[in-house]
Formats: sequence, structure tokens, C-alpha cells
Amino acid sequence: MAAQQILAADPKAEVVIYERDDNISFLSCGIALYLDGTVKRLEDMFYSSPEDLEQQGVTVKTQHNVIEIDAKQRRIRVVDMKSDQIFDDHFDKLIMATGSSAVVPPLVGIDQSKVLMCKTYAHAQEIKDSAENAKTIALVGGGYVGVELAESYARTGHEVDLFQSSDQILNHYIDKATSDRLIKMLTEHGIRVHLNHRVKSFERNDNQGLSINTGDEKFDADLAIVTTGFMPVTELLEYQVEMDRHGAIIVDNHCQSSDPNVYAAGIAQLVILIRLANQLMRR
Ligand SMILES: Cc1cc2nc3c(=O)[nH]c(=O)nc-3n(C[C@H](O)[C@H](O)[C@H](O)COP(=O)(O)OP(=O)(O)OC[C@H]3O[C@@H](n4cnc5c(N)ncnc54)[C@H](O)[C@@H]3O)c2cc1C
Repeated sequence: MAAQQILAADPKAEVVIYERDDNISFLSCGIALYLDGTVKRLEDMFYSSPEDLEQQGVTVKTQHNVIEIDAKQRRIRVVDMKSDQIFDDHFDKLIMATGSSAVVPPLVGIDQSKVLMCKTYAHAQEIKDSAENAKTIALVGGGYVGVELAESYARTGHEVDLFQSSDQILNHYIDKATSDRLIKMLTEHGIRVHLNHRVKSFERNDNQGLSINTGDEKFDADLAIVTTGFMPVTELLEYQVEMDRHGAIIVDNHCQSSDPNVYAAGIAQLVILIRLANQLMRR
């Protein structure tokens, strides 16, 4: 964790973490294990806590939303979400570790209560609780999150439909032949994989569930979870540091951005080993 590393290197440094959620360090990667019961308590999926970090000398401000960053002036503007007070803070060095948010595709009916997302602690609670009353669950998106959740729900006795718009699953990671083998295994576990099915809308059906429209076909489900990817949350630094076309901050091998006072870490960054490449070329 960046805060701990900084204090280890410089115990006198003043380190402040601003976090808009009411918790820190939630391990989203364990959600599938929580859904299938391998991890019993969601509370066990944090690798640190504000109290732990405070003890190590870090100031942790949860429920504080950073709404503005002026990299040149080295100033941030923050809303204390409990009191609605707005205040400014200044930094010598800023580490942007704002991560990513779940992509919410512009589909008709996506705002229905039975259509959920999967990223945060609150999402994990919601998709676990909602699944308890559901028989059929639809996963929209055949990336690693959709596939992982499909497996978990199949293990807990749910009927599972996995919708993927292209002709294979996990298309950012594996080739078609491997995808075909994997789909065979998923099918053997009772998961219905629908390739070339782009979900277009969600409607309420007569059973108080969902009717999922993929153009030519409609499928009923009690619950749908949209797992269509993540986007870096970096808009506060737009036009202030270099980013790629997805909004990931471009950094060098020291996590430094194009502004020397701004660093980026975690999923919000894209590491370009410019310096390393330059060094190698000079040899
Ligand atoms: C279901 C699932 C499974 C996954 N499985 C894996 C896996 O197996 N392996 C793997 O490597 N990765 C996995 N990931 C991805 C992994 O969870 C992310 O890469 C990781 O969470 C990124 O950490 P981060 O600290 O960069 O960002 P995040 O965890 O997104 O944290 C960023 C934090 O910044 C806060 N924030 C954002 N903007 C502001 C603001 N303006 N003001 C204040 N606070 C703000 C957010 O509230 C958030 O808490 C998975 C993700 C999911 C959802």
C-alpha cells in the first residue's frame, strides 16, 4: 500500500488518504468466493482498516469526496460527505489511486432494482442478498468477472445465463480455441453461455422478474448482474496529465505522471516504461 511504503521510506512524511466510500481496501477480487460461500464473512475481505493505518501515522479521511484537483497549484477541493462542508487541502506530491468504476452501458431498463453491478463492498452485499431469493441469474458480459460470478452462482444451485456480445468469452485474455474449451466446461457445470448475444434492454416480466431482450430473443431471469468492464476514474486530472484514450494515467517506471508532482497507482494508471526503454536504448 502506497501510504505504508511512503512512511517506511520517510517516517516524517505527512500522509493523508481521502476516500469517498465509508471503507478502504476492500478486495473486490474475492467477491466470487463470498458468493459461493468459500469466504463466509464479507468483513474478512479487507486487507487494512482506517484504524490500522491511523496507528501507523496515516491520516485517513473516509466519506471525503475529492471534487477538484488543481495540479499546477497543488491543491485539491474536498467535500466532507458527513457534514457537506467543502474545504481545500494542499499537497507536495499527489498519488492518484482512484481506481476504476463499473461500466454502466446505456441499456433500456438498466436502472431497475433487479439489475445490479459488481465492484464495491456495497455491491457485493447487494448481489449476495438478492441472489438468495433468485432462481435464475443472468450475467451480462463474458469477461473475467462475468465468468467468475457465473461459476459461483452455479455452485450455489442457481440457474445461470451468461450473455456475451462476441463469439467467445474472455476475449481480452484468451484465444477462441481456449474459450471454446472453457465454454464446454462451464456448460458441464450447468451454465448456459449465449455467445453473439448483445443485451439490448431489461423489462419487468409477469413474474416480477426480468425479461432480457437480446434483439431476436428474450430470456427470463430473477436477477441480472452487469459485468461489462471497468473504466479508470481519472476525470479530475483530465487535461492536466497525459492519459491514454481510455483515461488511464500514463506513468513511467516510478509511477510518475507527466506532471512531476502527480503520481498514479493501481488500476487508474497505465505504466509506460519510457525511462527504462530510454536507458536500454542508450546502452
Ligand atoms: C469481481 C472482481 C474480481 C476481480 N478479480 C481480480 C483478480 O482476480 N485479480 C486482479 O488483479 N484484480 C482483480 N480485480 C480488479 C481489482 O479489484 C482492481 O484492480 C483493484 O481494486 C484496483 O485497486 P485500486 O486501489 O487501484 O482501485 P479501487 O479498488 O477501485 O479503489 C479506488 C478507490 O478510490 C476511491 N475514489 C475514487 N474517486 C475518488 C474521489 N474523487 N475522492 C475520493 N475517493 C475516490 C473509490 O471510492 C475507491 O475506493 C477484480 C475486480 C472485481 C470487481
